Amino acid sequence: MLIVMKPSATARDVDSVIKIVEAIGFRAHSMPGATRTAIGITGNQGPVDGRRFENLPGVAEVIRVTKPYKLITLDLRPDKTVIRMGNATIGGSELAVIAGPCAIESREQAFAVAQAVQRSGARFFRGGVWKPRTSPYTFQGLGEKAWEIIAAIREEFGLKIVTEAVEESHVELIEKHGDVIQIGARNMQNFSLLKRAGRSRLPVLLKRGMAATLEEWLLAAEYIMAEGNYNVILCERGVRTFAQHTRNTLDLASVPAIQRISHLPVIIDPSHGTGTAYMVTPLARAAVAVGADGLMIEVHNRPELALSDGAQALTLSEYAQLIEEVRAIRSVTDANGTLSAA
Ligand code: PEP
Ligand code: MN
Repeated sequence: MLIVMKPSATARDVDSVIKIVEAIGFRAHSMPGATRTAIGITGNQGPVDGRRFENLPGVAEVIRVTKPYKLITLDLRPDKTVIRMGNATIGGSELAVIAGPCAIESREQAFAVAQAVQRSGARFFRGGVWKPRTSPYTFQGLGEKAWEIIAAIREEFGLKIVTEAVEESHVELIEKHGDVIQIGARNMQNFSLLKRAGRSRLPVLLKRGMAATLEEWLLAAEYIMAEGNYNVILCERGVRTFAQHTRNTLDLASVPAIQRISHLPVIIDPSHGTGTAYMVTPLARAAVAVGADGLMIEVHNRPELALSDGAQALTLSEYAQLIEEVRAIRSVTDANGTLSAA
């Protein structure tokens, strides 16, 4: 159920609605918007009798939610969520770029890539500390040894750090040393991990599971938000299909599909979405044209020597060229991808 407050409702009106929701044993999620505040209710197994709220001061409307999700919806928050971290934003007018190697391999590698990422004007550096690999015999990430390198990068280049929590215990470490918690495709339905990230103060970048429907993906975001963390970024990284010309099939249609339902920002990862370096730039261009809020790009100073995902890593100069191209596209479109230049 959603309780929509009148534009004239006071903070006290909102507060007393929240108190009643809590008194009957549910959780209230207050979402202030540009014109009004809405309050989502979670914790109920079945429908809640909304009539008790209808006559409270400041209440405009009580809406029964018939969809499986509540907090991710535009009904709750008609304005887009803009995630702010210092001078960096995701979901606002600026195209968010998260770039870096698949995994942190060495100080030399990470610094060379971070320098190129910073030069490109991107504000986020990615790099796996722990890697969820298909084979137990391949490189699993440097683990905690990577933190020292990451801390130095954060300090020297001022980039925000995006790294994956492969298990629950990683969240606390990322809270200490990083800026955004990534939840990978393989963990999209790891519900205890989602709940743990939902109790974090850091934004969560939630990748789409490789066989997840849009609804399953949005419900995974709902798990995070239901715990009180409303800063969720959705990341499309391709799904598995019968296609053999790409590692995954990058579902660019998920961008307008999500924008019709949700206020959450959505970004595209054409690196895992294609698996092949030569396809990354064309798909990145398409992602910006379709209205994505940002891109996640794998870059390596020596892709031929990469310990993971070398085939899809862009070289530093390919990456610089990609950024130039996507910025040119973004400069003639608005945040939804609509042509804004006459
Ligand atoms: C990654 O971005 O490092 C990664 C492992 O991606 P995905 O979870 O999309 O496979
Ligand atoms: Mn990778």
